[in-house]
Amino acid sequence: MKELKELTRENVWNLAPYSCARNEFSGRNASVYLDANENPYNSPFNRYPDPLQLEVKKQLAKVKQVPEESIFIGNGSDEPIDLMYRCFTEPKVDNVVAMDPTYGMYKVCADINDVEYRTVMLEPGFRLNAEKMLAACDEHTKIIWLCTPNNPSGNALDTNEVIKVLNGFDGFVVVDEAYSDFSSQKPFRLELAKYPNMVVLNTMSKAWGCAGIRMGMAFAQKNVIDIMNKVKYPYNVNILTQREALELLKDPYEVDKWVRTILLERSRMIDAIGLLPMCRKIHHSDANFLLVEVDDAQATYDYLVDKGIIVRNRNSVRLCEGCLRITIGTKTENQELLAALRTM
Ligand SMILES: *Cc1c(COP(=O)(O)O)cnc(C)c1O
Repeated sequence: MKELKELTRENVWNLAPYSCARNEFSGRNASVYLDANENPYNSPFNRYPDPLQLEVKKQLAKVKQVPEESIFIGNGSDEPIDLMYRCFTEPKVDNVVAMDPTYGMYKVCADINDVEYRTVMLEPGFRLNAEKMLAACDEHTKIIWLCTPNNPSGNALDTNEVIKVLNGFDGFVVVDEAYSDFSSQKPFRLELAKYPNMVVLNTMSKAWGCAGIRMGMAFAQKNVIDIMNKVKYPYNVNILTQREALELLKDPYEVDKWVRTILLERSRMIDAIGLLPMCRKIHHSDANFLLVEVDDAQATYDYLVDKGIIVRNRNSVRLCEGCLRITIGTKTENQELLAALRTM
């Protein structure tokens, strides 16, 4: 890996971050807070939230088995995705490399930050080819984006290919593990110590059932996390979100139960959808959704919308022609979808 200073934008490396009132005061017991121009009424919402979310990180560290200092918390995964560009890429000069197809936000944030976004098509079966990814890089490539299990294909990437990318690249490799709770593969977040150039993304939005509170995470070695913390908005995660996250983190077994139920439903749906005459192929899934190739994706999509059932039409995505992406819902919801498809 290149020196961190070399990978970081010069203005960011030299940045003196905003110092908020609660940062300057640290530790000692205080009972009277007259430092932040807050309104003394309307507790607890009158107070600014903890800018570094230390209570949440303490719980997350236990649940995710990652050191507290290796955790960044953001407003959804969207925030760390955007921050990777803002911290480590020079607009109009640097580029990033991503597999294709994959999650759309990596490209949107590249476009917003005016950074070239290079793609490498996945192999048949949506397999990652490490050599091709590395061959697409040049001296201005700062980030390689990987997503495992991948969205919209659903499959987990071959661990050995991911390791080849991690070892073969001298910039950052982001491994988005938004769906890792649904996969039987060992998550890469447990290997942080081994790879100083790895940034792993997690989210509360999928297995954790909290898309509405907007909380995502990045895991990396401390020196990388420190840079992201320097650049983020001071109070990027609000009090309501921190409270709800703490509440949920107290009972991770509830999440395990949801995951087990969803996985059971997933295998039931694979069997049932496979029996439909319109079904051409169900791609292998390690996530909470299925990518299904059907006879006429657009017509099927429109028909379902008419019945009030919304799936994701991926017909126009490269390598996903003719495909719908179907999230696994409750048993009742899944039954409704099946009933509709059977009578189409
Ligand atoms: C859904 C999803 C996320 C989650 O994004 P949030 O901003 O945390 O809701 C991240 N990455 C991938 C690949 C996803 O599919």
